[in-house]
Amino acid sequence: MSDIKQLDEKTIQRIAAGEVVERPASVVKELFENSLDADATRISVAVDAGGVEGVRIRDDGVGMSEEDLELAVREHTTSKIGDIEDLEAGVGTLGFRGEALHTIGAVSRLTIRSKPRGGDVGTELKYEGGEVESVRPAGCPEGTVVEVDDLFYNTPARRKFLKTTATEFDHVNAVVTHYALANPDVAVSLEHDDREVFATEGRGDLQSTVLSVYGREVAESMVPVDHDAPGVAVSGLVSHPETTRSTRDYLSTFVNDRYVTDRVLREAVLDAYGGQLDADRYPFAVLFVEVAPDAVDVNVHPRKMEVRWDDESGVRRDVTEAVEDALLSHGLVRSSAPRG
Ligand code: ADP
Ligand code: MG
Repeated sequence: MSDIKQLDEKTIQRIAAGEVVERPASVVKELFENSLDADATRISVAVDAGGVEGVRIRDDGVGMSEEDLELAVREHTTSKIGDIEDLEAGVGTLGFRGEALHTIGAVSRLTIRSKPRGGDVGTELKYEGGEVESVRPAGCPEGTVVEVDDLFYNTPARRKFLKTTATEFDHVNAVVTHYALANPDVAVSLEHDDREVFATEGRGDLQSTVLSVYGREVAESMVPVDHDAPGVAVSGLVSHPETTRSTRDYLSTFVNDRYVTDRVLREAVLDAYGGQLDADRYPFAVLFVEVAPDAVDVNVHPRKMEVRWDDESGVRRDVTEAVEDALLSHGLVRSSAPRG
């Protein structure tokens, strides 16, 4: 008799889910991207116990009809692309795989309430352990609310990998912060255990978004970066060399509007401070780097958010120059040796 067995559907589904959904922050990322793709202008995120007990995201986006809602939670269902040609022509949305709702639903208790824009009925769908539990009409505003409770309740091994509530919340906070900074025209709010962490106004300017996210002291110490070089445009805000923290977490870099954690960009920013930072202290930066799509590969790893540059040293030089110019013109650093 053979030892090899075919896994059942439920097992396959849960294994696959573990690869997309690693922790509450990954749930928040997927749902937030769905709200952005749905054209929302307000997105509120509320989490309980670091997101382990519950994640709730409400948006005022296009919403879903009952029919769409039932399709949305199935495997590989998406409204964002039709076929491989659409994919190759370039996708204008953050999602397109049609996996998130289905996989999140496989490892949590999921409730979605949604009403299409201009529609007159809303629908509530409950989904648990990979199956639709109920669908019924529900009174709700236009847009969508997604509630994810008891993440990994049916995959205890996964659940054991989760860190403390505080650490899980830090990850959630980082995700929501980066999306808020990258989307100043969207009003974003974050609550943890019923306490407001921050709320942006969605007025469209980075300055007021940074003020809402990081507070007045940090916002007032930041100066604008605005630098156009052939093939590379750098813009955003960087802080005074004395407004620092002990981690690199506040060096936020975006490439073509996508948040990335890139060593090259971080080092380029730090270099611009020319030794004026105290040891093990890091400034605040919210920096947008725009390059031609073929000058960078942002898909090195979808979850790690790393990039590979075509011309690494060129990008590095431009970013350092951009930040240096901003700091110099505000008298925040001393002029160093002339640049070659
Ligand atoms: P993808 O984002 O890759 O399409 P998802 O599983 O995340 O896959 O979502 C499936 C579909 O459900 C989306 O294509 C979209 O049509 C719909 N959907 C999900 N979230 C929302 C939302 N917040 N507002 C409106 N529609 C949504
Ligand atoms: Mg999605």
